[in-house]
Amino acid sequence: MTRARAPVVLKFGGASLEDPAQVGRDVAAVRADGTPVVVVASARQGVTDLLSGALAHPRSVGAHRAALLDQLRRRHPGLPVDARRLFDRVRRLLSEIESVCHYDAPLADRLLSQGERLSVHWLAARLRSDGIPAAPVEADHLGLITDNTYGASLILIDRSQSAVRRGLARRFARGEVPIVTGYFGRSLEGRVATLGRGGSDYAASAIGALIGASRVELVKRHVAVLSADPNEVPDARPIPELSYEEAEELAQFGARVLHPLTIEPARAHSVILRVRSLDDPSVVTTIAPARTGRRNRALTLLRPLRLVRLRVPGGRQRPGIVAEVSHRLSAAGVNLVQLYTSSALLCLLFEPGQVVAAIRALAPVTREAAAMVEGPYPVTLVIAIGDGILDDLDRIPSSALAGAEGFSATPRALSVAVPERRGPEVLRELHRALVTEVIP
Ligand code: ASP
Ligand code: MG
Repeated sequence: MTRARAPVVLKFGGASLEDPAQVGRDVAAVRADGTPVVVVASARQGVTDLLSGALAHPRSVGAHRAALLDQLRRRHPGLPVDARRLFDRVRRLLSEIESVCHYDAPLADRLLSQGERLSVHWLAARLRSDGIPAAPVEADHLGLITDNTYGASLILIDRSQSAVRRGLARRFARGEVPIVTGYFGRSLEGRVATLGRGGSDYAASAIGALIGASRVELVKRHVAVLSADPNEVPDARPIPELSYEEAEELAQFGARVLHPLTIEPARAHSVILRVRSLDDPSVVTTIAPARTGRRNRALTLLRPLRLVRLRVPGGRQRPGIVAEVSHRLSAAGVNLVQLYTSSALLCLLFEPGQVVAAIRALAPVTREAAAMVEGPYPVTLVIAIGDGILDDLDRIPSSALAGAEGFSATPRALSVAVPERRGPEVLRELHRALVTEVIP
């Protein structure tokens, strides 16, 4: 008996679903040699925005309900009769949201998850009409288990393993191609929990890890993994390969191509990730274990941010000052984006919406430690990522660092905080020094 082939996961984002015939060709190409395929699908483009728009204005849901349902129907033609109940469900959820006005996070997640549910029923029907034995699968029913952090939940791999494997193996045994919803799972307490915007990448990576896939392909319409955002850096170029660790830094530092949690399940289970763009099939990025002799560099901007300086007299002599600052911030629910310290100066970076809370949380420190708060000042964080980046320090032109508010580096990532208006210019300077002049 021949050993069963490891499955391949193909994930299609909203924009790449615009051409379902192309999805069918991709699926058929992988299946041609008998490889089992799982498709993970996002909601169709704009659908999650429509649903979250209703959540943003619960009072006016009534006025827009008919139009919203009409849009959903138009975006999902050809649904089989039994799947049309999804439209009624959206209608009921909207009524519920309108009547309570103060909906809670689990109710919001239930509504937001409908975009992916509609999408997989629509796509499966489309693929079946092209002769592919596609079967829609809703991830909460499948048993993709998450924690209870609605709106930003974490997939619990161990808790999901047996049900997801069993459920998908059963469909493979029937010769089917499961079309699984991205973006959400079922929480430990049994409710729908979404993974955060863009979460279908993360769901696909987790499903690949759960079933021992040989690779997970993240199919995007326009975007690709480039050395920088081409709108900021015209000569940005595709990156053919990234290590898991580099890709994780890039995703976490806010390059919007990938959901920040996408890399971890793939890394932990040695599944290769491949990001490709339908617009330009020659642009493919493979995310895999680090290889020696590879030099990858990617740059990104994190903004808008606010810098707050805390001057602590005799700072070094005060044990625990950093711990106290970070403790007070986290107790106030404030996320510290970046921290630069010298002996008497702590430079703290926040998202603009958190500055007021941050300064309030620091008030006791200013009283007890006679510390002074300066700022907030608008800044941008310019980030360069790549294994061995410390070797590149001597390439950085001093003009790029002129007027910088802080600098930090690890062997894999360096970041410079610069006044907001200089961000794009410093990005281009660093790109020139670290990419254009170095990588052929
Ligand atoms: N549909 C969700 C969103 O738009 C998830 C995704 O597309 O990955 O954020
Ligand atoms: Mg989407």
